[in-house]
Amino acid sequence: MNPRLLFWIPAMLRLAFILAGGAIVGAMFGAVYGAMLALAAVTILLFVQLSYLSKLGEWLEDPHSSRLPDGWGSWTGIFSRLYRLRRDDERNQAELTEWLARFRQAMHLLPDGVAIMDDVLFLEWCNPAAEQHLGLTLDKDKGMRITNLIRHPAFIDYIILGRYEQPLTLALRERKLICQIIPFENRRQILVTHDATETQRIEEMRRDFIANASHELRTPLTVIVGFLEIASSEPGLDAATRAAHLKLMTEQGRRMQRLIEDMLTLSRLESVDYPLRPERVDMAAMMSAIADEARALSAGKHTVTSDVSGPDVTGSAEELRSAFGNLASNAVRYTPAGGTIDLRWQQGPDGPQFVARDSGIGIEQIHIARLTERFYRVDKSRSRETQGTGLGLAIVKHVLLRHRGQLAICSEAGKGSTFTVSLPQSMALEKSRDGIIAA
Ligand code: ADP
Repeated sequence: MNPRLLFWIPAMLRLAFILAGGAIVGAMFGAVYGAMLALAAVTILLFVQLSYLSKLGEWLEDPHSSRLPDGWGSWTGIFSRLYRLRRDDERNQAELTEWLARFRQAMHLLPDGVAIMDDVLFLEWCNPAAEQHLGLTLDKDKGMRITNLIRHPAFIDYIILGRYEQPLTLALRERKLICQIIPFENRRQILVTHDATETQRIEEMRRDFIANASHELRTPLTVIVGFLEIASSEPGLDAATRAAHLKLMTEQGRRMQRLIEDMLTLSRLESVDYPLRPERVDMAAMMSAIADEARALSAGKHTVTSDVSGPDVTGSAEELRSAFGNLASNAVRYTPAGGTIDLRWQQGPDGPQFVARDSGIGIEQIHIARLTERFYRVDKSRSRETQGTGLGLAIVKHVLLRHRGQLAICSEAGKGSTFTVSLPQSMALEKSRDGIIAA
């Protein structure tokens, strides 16, 4: 039924009932009594209405659905409708609060920065990533103009030109940021920031690597091509010169071969398609082979000692051999004749350790942090003279990353170096009494 009728029909009936009551009493006991009764009934009715009105007023001060008073007469319908409205409202509000909490949490976790500004670029809100990227503090900077907060000239130009369809790359607070403004709702703008420092670093590394690798390969190739040109332009070369040229070409060819092999090893170690295949590694046998190789490389110019007291391990024998072999070969190559090289496999405080100690040329502190970078050399000519590729320690680093190992370098220029590889204790294997290996 029409709600208006629902209200008026009972109200009119109630009034009609009072008037009829008054008329009956008036007919029976006189008009004065009838009028008094009708007046008393109307007063009571008015008082009841006023009391419900006051209850409604009180409830509106704190309109919670659970505290809504019960009604009488027309008030029953009004209160029940108010109850339904309030309950729906509360449900919507709860949903909104939950949604807002979820949105806030998502924005907190988002690695990209998001800042919302009004049409005249006054900051309204930003997430923690934006605070970090742009050096903002929401509580302090809210309501400030964004160009007063980010005073980078390129950013100000970006705002002035208003070409927001293109992102802007900004070097800000030692970060490379990709920023873009996205207008929305006609009166608001979102500033999105993405930290591209790591991506750019990797891109730079890739570019450097290609440049270095090309340079490293070009040098021996130039030598080989040079000798080949001499051989073809001067057919009458004497046998001794020809032999000397061939020897040099072979050396340069081998250098290229070593370089390519090391580059392939590195790319294999970095490849996700080349998972680690752990196997039991006989450390005594490996250490003996590494020491023999070091002695062969030294050709009797150094005293090479080796000691094995640590356990066998589980890991990639080929990769560990390559890492430890590189450290042993470096010890020989960077130690002048007459020096000592000590190779050890031992149990360290937190796991098994490989130690290569030499009494060689040592390394100045400023170089130590960069030694595992590809093609980083302290002394280029010495590295080349001793057949170095500049990739040995990068290979060591990647092998250790795959084995969760750590490399510690302790060195003093002119006094020698100690390279210590620590492997996790979980890699160590113990020999049980019946000779079966157990982890
Ligand atoms: P390289 O093939 O040039 O030896 P590595 O990556 O093995 O390349 O080593 C990087 C650089 O670290 C070397 O060029 C050398 O300058 C320095 N280095 C490595 N091992 C030693 C060592 N035992 N003593 C002194 N310098 C070392």
